[in-house]
Amino acid sequence: MTVDETNKQHTPMMQQYLRLKAENPDILLLYRMGDFYELFYDDAKKAAKLLDISLTKRGQSAGQPIPMAGVPYHSIEGYLAKLVQLGESAAICEQIGDPATSKGPVERQIVRIVTPGTISDEALLPERQDNLIASVYQEKDQFGLATLDMTSGRFQLSEPNTKESLQAELQRIQPVELLYCEDFAEMQIIAKAKGLRRRPIWEFELGTAIQQLNRQFGTKDLRAFGVEKAILGLCAAGCLLQYAKETQRTALPHIQSISFIQNSDNIQLDAATRRNLELTQNIAGGTEHTLSAILDKCVTPMGSRLLKRWIHQPIRDVQKLHHRQQIIDSILQADLVTELQPYLQQVGDMERILARVALRSARPRDLTRLRTALAQLPDIQHILKTSKNFTALSQQISDFSIEYDLLQHAITDNPPLLIRDGGVIAEGYNPELDEWRKLSAGATQYLEELEQRERESTGIDTLKIGFNAVHGYYIQISQGQAHKAPIHYVRRQTLKNAERYIIPELKTYEDKVLKAKGASLALEKQLYEEIFDKLLPHLGQLQLASLALAELDVLTNLAERAETLNYVKPTFTTDIGITIQNGRHPVVEQVQKDPFIANPVHLNQQRHLLIITGPNMGGKSTYMRQTALITLMAYIGSFVPAESAEIGPIDRIFTRIGASDDLASGRSTFMVEMTEMANILHQATKNSLVLIDEIGRGTSTYDGLSLAWACAEWLANKLQSLTLFATHYFELTVLPEQIVGVVNVHLDALEHKDTIAFMHTVQDGAASKSYGLAVAALAGVPQSVIKLAKQKLKQLEKLSQQTTGLNPQKVLQQTQGELALMEQDETKNAILDMLETVEPDEMTPKQALAYLYQLKKML
Ligand code: ADP
Repeated sequence: MTVDETNKQHTPMMQQYLRLKAENPDILLLYRMGDFYELFYDDAKKAAKLLDISLTKRGQSAGQPIPMAGVPYHSIEGYLAKLVQLGESAAICEQIGDPATSKGPVERQIVRIVTPGTISDEALLPERQDNLIASVYQEKDQFGLATLDMTSGRFQLSEPNTKESLQAELQRIQPVELLYCEDFAEMQIIAKAKGLRRRPIWEFELGTAIQQLNRQFGTKDLRAFGVEKAILGLCAAGCLLQYAKETQRTALPHIQSISFIQNSDNIQLDAATRRNLELTQNIAGGTEHTLSAILDKCVTPMGSRLLKRWIHQPIRDVQKLHHRQQIIDSILQADLVTELQPYLQQVGDMERILARVALRSARPRDLTRLRTALAQLPDIQHILKTSKNFTALSQQISDFSIEYDLLQHAITDNPPLLIRDGGVIAEGYNPELDEWRKLSAGATQYLEELEQRERESTGIDTLKIGFNAVHGYYIQISQGQAHKAPIHYVRRQTLKNAERYIIPELKTYEDKVLKAKGASLALEKQLYEEIFDKLLPHLGQLQLASLALAELDVLTNLAERAETLNYVKPTFTTDIGITIQNGRHPVVEQVQKDPFIANPVHLNQQRHLLIITGPNMGGKSTYMRQTALITLMAYIGSFVPAESAEIGPIDRIFTRIGASDDLASGRSTFMVEMTEMANILHQATKNSLVLIDEIGRGTSTYDGLSLAWACAEWLANKLQSLTLFATHYFELTVLPEQIVGVVNVHLDALEHKDTIAFMHTVQDGAASKSYGLAVAALAGVPQSVIKLAKQKLKQLEKLSQQTTGLNPQKVLQQTQGELALMEQDETKNAILDMLETVEPDEMTPKQALAYLYQLKKML
């Protein structure tokens, strides 16, 4: 049997449904029937589960009952929000024909497809977070990547040249939907991405891409955007644009250009670094205690989103950074924060409102909010006149008094939520509309008078006039008084307690009212559409203004933060290096109760690798991270938590911090550690800032030590990157004697009896001692255990002295077998077990050394 033949067994309506469903086999189809959106068959079963709605059956078609689930049309937004949050897409099918005149089922059409990455409805979007859709394409080992922000029209492409940089980019973008070509080979890179959509190869075709993009921008070629050479990026962009158009089913006038993001424009941060530095997300996946939680007090949602983009993409253009600093300076000097912020707050989320205007999906209240935003501009411009540092921003904001007047005259003060409810267009805007409204209001008044008159003439005090959608206007009389109804009353409906009648006069007025109401609603809709027509020619300028306002919000916010949190303006030098006086960790200093101890950093070409030692909990990782965060903050234009900071050119920030098993991909701690380390060793340059924390933890002692040693040597000798290298391998503290540019520093602590006080100050030189045992005491390990440990340590140290100076590589080879014994376990019991089995007197020096390290590591 052919599909057509199968279809013929269904009712005409189900045939229509199946036809539409066949066009969208992979996504939920919400099929409008009267006041409901219905889902059938497998869609119904899936939706019932996802949305927690009940699964029912509808009649029979082709001899079988049809599984069905539905949601009321007026609460569709809430259900759509839930679906997109779950990463699902849904096709919305509306009745577009008139049920009264249709033969067979009403004509229906899919009017839009709601997908997580292409939504623009306010209710469906996280307010202070970008919502991006991306597309990846691959040829051999090269990649093309395109991203689109449907809520602003921002359209970008790039060409990551390694798997790692593609991964880093995806980590930065965090797309909610990711399109990939069916022949994409590196599935493991994207396997964990949200909203994966496999697309056919022809959608990535270069010719089509160029043609589509030119048509979108109204251009002949793409040279103006500087993207013409980015072939793979263009292929990805072409697919993305087609997908966006297919889902929106309307013009996308807010997408007016595309830009090419080049690696050299930004400080590169790899995926691990973004995680480790806890920029916008903490290690646990939340947003508290992150850099953006401290820095972002922007008063507009679009400002918050822009600041997060800046944080994830520090720029290298020092001129641009100076310009940002100058604006912050001017705001601080003239004390403008409290002046600007109330106006900016009123500007609100102009960016996303404009996108909805472009898509013609803006709600009445979007237009009143846009009106409020435009009303602030003269005041803001007035403030921006006060310093020439604001000129560039000010010039980006045109005069929109005509658009403001339009909205002021066209839209009522407090319009209802939806245009279909009517009452959106203001009185006095359109004479014809006023006329219809007067008529329908006049008729309503007439009905009230009629009711009064009939009540008096019949003497029936329960008589009243009502309306319902099926029977129209009626006169209702209670059953008790129905016998008094005059002869010319024609009965229409009998209820339990009342009778309903119609009279010719009422019918005449019914027609008049309905006509006037219908006409005024239709006219309102038309006028509403015309407002879009009038705004859209200025969309580009409006978008430019909203971008400037978002930037002003971010810079005002950074000025406020600088003042409140006591930050200073960093300076940029052309010499390689980082010099910070009394630097602080921007997050730790805010979240911990104890006072924060400020520390200096001196890194330059003569002093480019610091070996950092000191007790656990001494502050090593805090010190390293604060150096990276201060550098990153400087490179977004922010002021920094320090007394002073001078920072040279930086191309990348790398971190190798923390050791956690990447359980999801089945890689051990050691594997993760080594992959990240290998990445650094391949890519770091003299201009890179590299943080290494406790490399070698994930493996046995000698492996770890030799690896750490080799990495430090390579970084110091070969790469000469600016490196902070924290380690628990004390052996590494001899490196400064062997390699120029390597220096020891340590985090200070005072030991008193069996307890320890952390000073958190960074001092020159290596730490004098391992404080492992004192730290263990703090952690609650019983005194007797500590005492025993101390005895054994002494014996072990004596023995192991004989082995210092050995080449770790050789030691490693010789002791492979012995090392297998030493499992890492940090519990008290393990310490006890270990101490009980250690018999230093019977050990070789090498074994002793191994045990010593193992013990130190545990503590
Ligand atoms: P390590 O890496 O040496 O084990 P951390 O950097 O994790 O130590 O620091 C441990 C704790 O010490 C931090 O959580 C913080 O509360 C505190 N700390 C670290 N550095 C400082 C500092 N400079 N001033 C005050 N407290 C600090």
